Amino acid sequence: MEVLVDIRDVSKIYNPGENEVKALDHVSVSIREGEYVAIIGQSGSGKSTLMNILGCLDIPSDGEYYLHGKNVKDLNDNELSDIRNKEIGFVFQGFNLIANLTAFENVELPLIYRGISKTKREAFAEAALEKVGLGNRMEHKPAEMSGGQQQRVAIARAIAQAPPVILADEPTGNLDSRSTWEIMDILENLHSEGRTVILITHNNEIAVRAKRIITIRDGRIESDTGIQTDEASDDAIDQAVSVEITGEDQTVEFDAEDFTND
Ligand code: ADP
Ligand code: MG
Repeated sequence: MEVLVDIRDVSKIYNPGENEVKALDHVSVSIREGEYVAIIGQSGSGKSTLMNILGCLDIPSDGEYYLHGKNVKDLNDNELSDIRNKEIGFVFQGFNLIANLTAFENVELPLIYRGISKTKREAFAEAALEKVGLGNRMEHKPAEMSGGQQQRVAIARAIAQAPPVILADEPTGNLDSRSTWEIMDILENLHSEGRTVILITHNNEIAVRAKRIITIRDGRIESDTGIQTDEASDDAIDQAVSVEITGEDQTVEFDAEDFTND
């Protein structure tokens, strides 16, 4: 598989000067097409900063980002927004749905902005909602749905135009455990269809479902199980999660045998 994301020696400094925050500190990482990667780290470790750079929502202060072999620095605003619209499906912790629109309309809205014809829009929106199991909730507004259902609408919105890459930043952070596993199943299905899934989380239990785990701490990559075959990946992930990681809310002593990858 081809290299999709190639981040080389990237740093990100917020508020350069006296109150500067080094959110990313010389990070290098490469991700191939079709991988399912979890990026894990404590609150404040730089995960969202990294995701924003990966998704071309922000630019590095230093270092280079090659996406599909092209240096993102050399792309103009139109090319960047094209990438954000067509290549990447974004899923965030706080669903970001529009309250007075139905599930169907929420999924359809970005397609209107992208100039997709009405017939195609309707077909894409319906197919995406069916795919996340909400074929029977299309006319419901966000307030009439559970958190898990709302996040499924947000995923339908992200995948309606079949982007090859899914970037999800703490997508289950606001959900109960049942909804969490439903969302994880959907992400896994998207991966098995061949999409690249990059999942950001502070939760070990979620991270182990991925094929590769990158751990970030204080803006640096602390460990990376690497691009692996499936079996090698399971072993590497067992090792990665046997290390204790302190989350923002709790310390999780992790026993890899409690979880499986399938
Ligand atoms: P995470 O997603 O892992 O919780 P973030 O990437 O959001 O971490 O933040 C990394 C660090 O950068 C934190 O110290 C945070 O306070 C700081 N930070 C994030 N965004 C900004 C910003 N826009 N301006 C200033 N500091 C920021
Ligand atoms: Mg974050």
